[in-house]
Amino acid sequence: MIIVMQERSPQKQIQTVMENVKALGYQPHLIQGQLRTVVAVVGDEREKPRIQALENLPGVEKIVPILEPYKLASKEVKKEKSVVNADGVKIGGDVLVVMAGPCSVESEKQIIGIAEEVKKAGAQILRGGAFKPRTSPYSFQGLEKEGLVLLAKARKITGLKIITEVISPTDVPLVEEYADLLQIGARNMQNFALLKEVGKCRKPILLKRGMSGTIKELLMSAEYILSQGNSQVILCERGIRTFEDYTRNTLDLSAVPVIREHSHLPVIVDPSHGVGKWNLVPPLCKAAVAVGADGLLIEVHADPAMAYSDGAQSLKPKKFAVLMEELRKYAALEGKKM
Ligand code: PEP
Ligand code: MN
Repeated sequence: MIIVMQERSPQKQIQTVMENVKALGYQPHLIQGQLRTVVAVVGDEREKPRIQALENLPGVEKIVPILEPYKLASKEVKKEKSVVNADGVKIGGDVLVVMAGPCSVESEKQIIGIAEEVKKAGAQILRGGAFKPRTSPYSFQGLEKEGLVLLAKARKITGLKIITEVISPTDVPLVEEYADLLQIGARNMQNFALLKEVGKCRKPILLKRGMSGTIKELLMSAEYILSQGNSQVILCERGIRTFEDYTRNTLDLSAVPVIREHSHLPVIVDPSHGVGKWNLVPPLCKAAVAVGADGLLIEVHADPAMAYSDGAQSLKPKKFAVLMEELRKYAALEGKKM
């Protein structure tokens, strides 16, 4: 249910509404729009009539149900786009944000070298996996804590913010201590225990679409995070599995405008995992910008042939720099800065 407050209703009235919602055993979520404030009430819907009774409280204009199955993620609750703030880097505003770096953190020399290159080319966020979800238990699993320490070192040297994946609920406090943004990978899109855990943390979350996840399921997963109180969620299209096997996945770019129609959350695109081949990454980055992506996640490696993971889809720094230059024109056409 959404409690719509009257225009410019005083703080005290909003507070009273929030307290009444809590007294009914619900968690109120305050959403401040440009003109109006709404209080979203989510939880067990069997108690709906009791919420409806709050319509008589001073300052309340109306109480309406949220029709979409995802509530806090839906545009019904918030019409304006949300802007996520990752320690000063804003995702969802008028800047196309590029997150770039290797699939895995491999060594100090590797991560700092790539960090410097992607920074020079204009990226704002450094990516790099310290905990790697791998199909085979015999593949490189990541440097874990040591990887996080190296990412933090790269941040200190370059000033880039860092994003890294968390794969287990028990690692959330550790990853949160080091990262500026936490990534939930495709394989964990419906790991509900993990989603609930990152919902309690204070850092923004990048939620990737599962390889067999529908757009609605992606939004329902975002809802898990939002319902725990973390409003800083970014969605990521990274390709889904189809019958086509020329590319690693099928990058579903239609997800971007579809999500835009139904949700206020920022959406970025990861063409690297979407196509799995480095030469196809640049054209799909451009297409992603054209369909309105708020940012891009791009894998970059100095020596892709020797990469511990995802070398085939990684751009060399020089190619990445050329791509960034080209993307400026596409971003400008979409009214975005880089
Ligand atoms: C990654 O970003 O390296 C990764 C494992 O991505 P995904 O979860 O999209 O496969
Ligand atoms: Mn990867």
